[in-house]
Amino acid sequence: MTNTERFWETKRLSELSPSEWERLCDGCGLCCLHKLRDEDTDTLMFTDVACRLLDLNTCQCASYGERFRKVPDCIALTPKMVHEIDWLPPSCAYRLMDEGKPLPDWHPLLTGNRESVHQAGISGRGRIISERYAGPLERHIVDWPGEDPLRPPASARPRPKKRARKAPRRV
Ligand code: SF4
Ligand code: SF4
Repeated sequence: MTNTERFWETKRLSELSPSEWERLCDGCGLCCLHKLRDEDTDTLMFTDVACRLLDLNTCQCASYGERFRKVPDCIALTPKMVHEIDWLPPSCAYRLMDEGKPLPDWHPLLTGNRESVHQAGISGRGRIISERYAGPLERHIVDWPGEDPLRPPASARPRPKKRARKAPRRV
């Protein structure tokens, strides 16, 4: 693989072509999980509840081309957003690039295999539920989407004291 092909090592997020931007996504599907915020402390909490359009097996959007029409609060990431938002998982390739970190060895760009993100246990496959069936989000708070897979699990996150609200979803 040439340096030109390893664009994630030579470019900034803002310099990526549309094709490179799409290829950078590892396909984990974790950004399509609902998030909650504590109304008092603004603490972010992850859930294992997926957007209704997420294919729970492939962890891909089932209607990517029409996602903004079908899910109005789906968000298209930009380099500026990647830098500012706090809800992308630590394993997210956009977040890693923004932080100047290398891609992990299981990333499909390095393995040449879109399944490698699932085989490494990084994606949501096998541990997420659709919002169609989940019921109240407050019953689905989990830590793992926010944990760095290269580090030991973090201690339990604080639970909401009052009714929490949804954080924005994205691509
Ligand atoms: S969390 Fe990041 S790498 Fe994973 S699917 Fe979402 S945008 Fe792609
Ligand atoms: S959050 Fe957006 S990209 Fe993800 S499954 Fe839902 S509509 Fe598709």
